[in-house]
Amino acid sequence: MSLSTPLICDLVLIIRQAIIDHEAEIESLDRAIGDGDHYINIKRGVDAIAGMVSELNTQKPDEVLNKIAMKLLSVIGGASGPLLASFMLGMAKVIKENSNETPLQAAAGFAAGVQALMQRGKGGLGEKTMLDVLIPVSTTFTTMAASGKSSLEICTAVKAAADKGLESTRALIATKGRAAALGERAIGHLDAGAKSCQVMTHAVCDRLITLAK
Ligand code: ADP
Ligand code: MG
Repeated sequence: MSLSTPLICDLVLIIRQAIIDHEAEIESLDRAIGDGDHYINIKRGVDAIAGMVSELNTQKPDEVLNKIAMKLLSVIGGASGPLLASFMLGMAKVIKENSNETPLQAAAGFAAGVQALMQRGKGGLGEKTMLDVLIPVSTTFTTMAASGKSSLEICTAVKAAADKGLESTRALIATKGRAAALGERAIGHLDAGAKSCQVMTHAVCDRLITLAK
């Protein structure tokens, strides 16, 4: 499996639909411990990218990810815009350098994306953010791909890692983002960004499982 341009464009549309399908949940989480705009921010991003698919079709995968990053930066007002844009830029850089043909190379691209997002937001694991999903997803993706597992095995394990990471945010105090101002009042709530990343992870994995059959 390679992260080809047609696959990226396909996944963009799949992700958009999954976000729409989870509107109420994502919206209510950011309303509880944020400012309530996370769904709108992400939806604006996925709508804009979905609208670019026909023009992206003919470009190289790393160019596509760079264009997606620029679009996310320009259309998302909240913190999630620059964070997700950094993820795309980090991934683009590495898949341009490696030959982007194997799951392990895709995993290296994903890991570079997570690193770039961490640098951008100065965040890490356990801060009640999207990173509590993205870091374990990345680690699991890399470990499973490095041991030569099938797409089905990788995707199944990655989905479970996303679920566990999302659930881990419930007991945490936030030390990054708006929820950090709430202190212990954030305990008991899932993080909205972690939820949207879990939704996107599931959508991508389910699509890859279907395509592998
Ligand atoms: P805003 O916080 O500006 O309203 P959003 O609502 O779109 O932006 O996004 C909020 C989400 O962004 C949070 O739920 C959290 O997951 C994530 N987030 C915020 N700050 C950081 C950070 N420094 N590092 C990683 N993720 C972050
Ligand atoms: Mg918000």
